[in-house]
Amino acid sequence: MGKRKRDDSDQNSKSAKNARSFSQKWLQLFLWLRFDSMLNAMFCDICQKHKLKNNFVKPGSTNFRKSAVVEHANSNDHVQALKLETASKSNPIVSVFEKVHEKTDNAMCTLFRNAYFIAKENLPMDKFQSLNDLNKSNGAVITSKLYQENNACSEFIQIISDSIEQEVMSDVKLSPAVGIMIDESTDLATQKHLILYLSYLKAGELKISYTKLLNLSSGNRRTFRVIKFLP
Ligand SMILES: [Zn+2]
Repeated sequence: MGKRKRDDSDQNSKSAKNARSFSQKWLQLFLWLRFDSMLNAMFCDICQKHKLKNNFVKPGSTNFRKSAVVEHANSNDHVQALKLETASKSNPIVSVFEKVHEKTDNAMCTLFRNAYFIAKENLPMDKFQSLNDLNKSNGAVITSKLYQENNACSEFIQIISDSIEQEVMSDVKLSPAVGIMIDESTDLATQKHLILYLSYLKAGELKISYTKLLNLSSGNRRTFRVIKFLP
């Protein structure tokens, strides 16, 4: 009896006569391989993780040949598990990027809306930063430190004004009379701007719309272009 017991415990060692046994070296060759000494069986961590059904998941392989391990590595199941593993590893990165983009988009929308508000309500551009801060304290996500200065506000207004301009101009063309209002504004970069408002009739109602922001970089010459801009 004593002799028999010793034989059993030696089964995994090289001294075990003809009986094949698990080789620890395989663990270095196949990183997904796991040997359970209690069950005396080999398992595949990746197949198990991705819930594939093969003998490396349940009940565990007892075919202690390197060729059997290689065969599993090349099996359809294992290849599929590897694909799932790659996908699961890349997805978190993708979703992080998506979240960053989503946040950036939201932040930019807030900044654009604030710039539009400044223009629409005829507020001085140096209120842009405090308006952004107010939005932040109200829970808006403004991630970037960029685009928060007053000169950014004028850039936003320029972009917005292009689309407003098209909309307003089509209404102005249909109006029997048009009024012009011009206001001067200076941003923190001490860049002077002319803000152009148009009053016109739309469906019998008087409308006053912010229409365009013009940089006054070269004095009066640009002012003439305001006149030129009108239909
Ligand atoms: Zn596997």
